[in-house]
Order: sequence, then C-alpha cells, then structure tokens
Amino acid sequence: MRNTSRILLNRESLKANLSFLRRMMGQDRLISLVVKGNAYGHGIHAYVPLAESLGMHHFSVFSAWEAWQVKEAANQPCEIMIMGMLFPDELDWAVRHKVSFFVFDLDRLRLAIETAKNLGIPARIHLEVETGMNRTGLERGCWEETCRLLHQNKQWLVFEGLCTHFAGAESIANYARIMRQKKQFGMARAYFASHGHRPKRYHCACSAAAIRYPATRMDMVRIGILQYGFWPSRETFIEYVKNRKRKNDPLKRVIRWESEVMSTKRVAEGDFIGYGTSFLASRPMHIAVVPVGYSHGFSRALSNSGHALIRGRRVPVIGTINMNALSLDITDVPEVVPGDEVVLIGHQDDQEVSVASFSEMSSQLNYELLTRLPMDIPRQVYPITPSDAPKSS
Ligand SMILES: *Cc1c(COP(=O)(O)O)cnc(C)c1O
Repeated sequence: MRNTSRILLNRESLKANLSFLRRMMGQDRLISLVVKGNAYGHGIHAYVPLAESLGMHHFSVFSAWEAWQVKEAANQPCEIMIMGMLFPDELDWAVRHKVSFFVFDLDRLRLAIETAKNLGIPARIHLEVETGMNRTGLERGCWEETCRLLHQNKQWLVFEGLCTHFAGAESIANYARIMRQKKQFGMARAYFASHGHRPKRYHCACSAAAIRYPATRMDMVRIGILQYGFWPSRETFIEYVKNRKRKNDPLKRVIRWESEVMSTKRVAEGDFIGYGTSFLASRPMHIAVVPVGYSHGFSRALSNSGHALIRGRRVPVIGTINMNALSLDITDVPEVVPGDEVVLIGHQDDQEVSVASFSEMSSQLNYELLTRLPMDIPRQVYPITPSDAPKSS
C-alpha cells in the first residue's frame, strides 16, 4: 500500500544551492540550515542526511520536538539550535544532548541554569535580544539582570550566541525598520561585551537579510528558504540580479511532488464540473482526476487557478480542489491515460511548475504551501547514494 503521491528531493539541486550559498556567504562563515516546518515540507527524515552528505552540520529548528527529529535523522554528529518552543520539561533533554536554544526571557534563563546545575552539564544558550520585531527577545530592561545571571553562573552556561530576528527583510518597505533593528542589535552587542559577555557567535540574518544586507551576516547565517531553491520574495531575487551580468536564477528547486492520473472522463459542453457551479464546460472537454486534494496539502486556494504537468504539457486545475482529489483540463492532451505521471511541483521535460507560479500574489505562499505538505507523504532522495539511506532504528 502506498500514499497517493510522493516527494522527491534532488541531490544535484541542493548541491548547487549550497555551493551558491557558500560563494555568497564566504568560505569561513557558518551556515545553519533552518529545517523547521519539517524542513519546509521537504521532510526532516530524508533531508537532514542528504544535507549532511553534502557537508552541512548545523541545523536550526523551531521546537524541541523538531530538534528530536533532526537527532533521529542525523547520521553524523551535528549542532542543533532551537529558535522557539521548548516545554519546561524538555529543557532537560536539550541540555543533556547539547542542543542549544534561544533564551528570550529571564524565566527561561533561570530554568536553563537550574536544569544545568541538576544535570551537572552546562546549558548552551543563545540570548535573543529584542530589537524591534516585537515577537520574542530580551528587552533592554532585563539586560542587567541577564548579565548578572550570566556572571554568577558561568560554569553552567555556554554563551553560544547573541542574536535577533528581522521583521521582514524580504521587502524594501521595511528598510527603515530593519536598519533600526540592526542599530539596536549593535547596542545590545556593545552592552553585553562591555559587561564581559562575548558569545561564540553573533547571528541575525535569515535568507533575505543574508542576501540584501551583507553586514548582517556576522558569524553565522540562518538560511531557510534559499537552500530549498526558492527566493524569500521576488524583490530579493530582483535585487540579487540587478548588478550582475548574468540574470539567470542560480537557485534550483530541490523538491518534486508527483502523483498519477486516477481516471479520465469526457464532459459535454454546458455541463458543470465537480462540486457546485464553479466550473462550466464551455466546450466538449476531457478531464483527468488526480488523487491529491487539500488533505494532501494541495491548497483549496488553487481551485480553478493552479497548474500541473502531464505528458510534458502544462494544464490547468479546473473546479474546486476536493479533500482527496483534483481535476485537470486535458482537452488539449487527449493521449493521457490513467497511470500517467502528474507533476504537481517540479519539472517535466522542459516545463516547470514552481510553488510560486501557483499564484504570484505573495511569496508567502512558497513558505506556506511547502510547510503544509503532510508528514506522511513519502520523501525520497534521488539520485540515490548509500549515504542518504535513512537510519534504520
Ligand atoms: C524561519 C527563521 C529563519 C529562516 O528564514 P528564511 O526566510 O526561510 O531564511 C531564520 N531565523 C529565524 C529566527 C527564523 O524563525
């Protein structure tokens, strides 16, 4: 028995993206691969060993739950950084396994110290300072107490990082806000240094900041969307190519999502197709039903607007996306038969459906659609080499 669709990860594409990142960020700068959201839908279990086989050993996640998955998937020793949620009873696990985590309030700092003391193992912390995003971050008012706690508990804390996160570096509309954040971060850095607290690394940059604002790269960049072959926004790509001779896109999509035709049917002119009246056949039509719907992560927003590839041709989605199925207009590709491969994301011959082309409305769609791909769709690396084989445990 198998899932109705599958996801393939292209090793060559990832290799190209990583060498692009190496070139852009400099040989010596640490690149942390952000693999939250199940590696942006690519699947932590398959993706982490693949990235490791290409020389990457630092991974960032949102939660302890994801950190645990990375640990399960990894074949080699790696550094794991939790940027968000840990339940209080998960700190113990993190400290024990030398997983580092963001500290953005005094309660977590005190708990980290207490946990470290109990275990006799120092906690590895990144102080996240508030610079203007106003999500998480230590505010100016508690820096003094933070310094006091750092000083008193030196043997129980490894000061791995001082960091912050920008509130929308992918859009020039946020320029002034980002610059203010950068300045605030500089002040935090000076404050902690003047109190004798220097971390192993300073880090601020996500993909967009790392491309647009080279000064934010510092000791480490936290790269999410770029590694998978997508730009954080169209604007970021335009800015990147602006001053370059070659205007081609250096990034290659790693993901390919494919299924197959379940059945085909003829529909008479004047009939509605699917639920309700959202699509009327204005000519005699031929449709193909694909066993992938919104429960599999194919957004309902793509009803009557998405595209897929079949026999090397780009065909439109017609009607509403159902829970488990969608319909394609194959009137102009009459040779289609059940069992034919359907590409929902990726290449087929010289055609491509990228996530963004589903809709040009917002690049946020890249992030959202990818991360909504369900965990249970199988992920497979190609071409296969022995080192990608997921750990059997
Ligand atoms: C998600 C995230 C990133 C990576 O963002 P991209 O835009 O995908 O590069 C970096 N830092 C933090 C704190 C994040 O939450």
